[in-house]
Amino acid sequence: MGNYVVSVDNSKGKTQELSIGTIIVATGGKEYKPKDLFQYKKENKNVITQLELEQLLKEKGKSWLDGIKRITTILCVNARQIEGITYCSNICCGNSIKNIGLLKKLKPDLELIVLYRDLQMAKKRYEDYYRERRKDAIFLRYDLDNLPIVKRKSKSSEKYEVKLYDTNLQDFLEFETDLIVLSTPMVPSDNLMDLAKMLKVPLDKNGFFLEAHVKLRPLDFATEGIFLCGCAQWPKNVQDTISQANGAAGRASRFLSAKEITTSGIVAEVNPINCIGCGKCESICPYNAIDLLESIKDFEDVSLVTKKSFINSALCKGCGTCAATCPNGAISIKQYDFEQITAMIESFLLET
Ligand code: SF4
Ligand code: SF4
Repeated sequence: MGNYVVSVDNSKGKTQELSIGTIIVATGGKEYKPKDLFQYKKENKNVITQLELEQLLKEKGKSWLDGIKRITTILCVNARQIEGITYCSNICCGNSIKNIGLLKKLKPDLELIVLYRDLQMAKKRYEDYYRERRKDAIFLRYDLDNLPIVKRKSKSSEKYEVKLYDTNLQDFLEFETDLIVLSTPMVPSDNLMDLAKMLKVPLDKNGFFLEAHVKLRPLDFATEGIFLCGCAQWPKNVQDTISQANGAAGRASRFLSAKEITTSGIVAEVNPINCIGCGKCESICPYNAIDLLESIKDFEDVSLVTKKSFINSALCKGCGTCAATCPNGAISIKQYDFEQITAMIESFLLET
């Protein structure tokens, strides 16, 4: 079904060719790094993202919090915008509230403030964090029209002034903070467009991979033998990623373990005499079933290399798009060739 050849560059600079039956796209995602937003820049050491906070605590331990009295977390940074990143990554709120609990545990006298627009806390454990959120932090609400303003107090101090309009209090607030932690959305990994073109699978408008059907085939691509899981498809937490990875592995093993594959007899076929090798069918097939391959033709004692369309009938779904596209009438669908369709139309017209 798959029958792919994958070239892999190994660490010694050599290319290895592997014969692959199925492919699981599991590219993951990455944390969005703000560009000069809320004073996030190289020279401001105490404006960091959630992932950077976790890394610093892991590497340096709680001593890293010495000298820090107040931490301000800002949620939905550059997320859920009218333009640009419009979606909610659905894990950042829960992760931020979890980190607030962790910070309070590491240093109980910390003052913690959260600036939020909405709190998306789906999942049982996140709901528990949500119910208990006020025990560890003060929550202040802002909206997209009035983003909080952050200023560094002076070049010599890592203290920041925060100003915001709290939409619950309906008033302006101003306070100082020692550390700002930004909750930014998850974005697609780099170079997914190249991979999507190589595999001939689609990306959605946000740049994540698009499954064949959100409810009926959530782990598959329309192209047979290629599956997807995890944040390649959409931002998700580790538990959901693992569940989806198990599902994708199950789907892939169905193909790998099958001794025979039964497919529909209604598939497209090419008449090589009529094919002029223009490649229109190859580029339009939604199931990646067509390849343009070199074919040798003898002409007056000379061997000419031409290109001809070849259809993999195991992949073809018989949709007919290629037959309708071919400018030279070289493709027909078995059981539905032009004469058969013409006969059907004529008999229908005779009857009516
Ligand atoms: S569109 Fe028709 S002529 Fe062009 S490559 Fe395909 S089969 Fe051949
Ligand atoms: S009939 Fe549809 S699925 Fe089959 S080769 Fe043509 S375009 Fe692809």
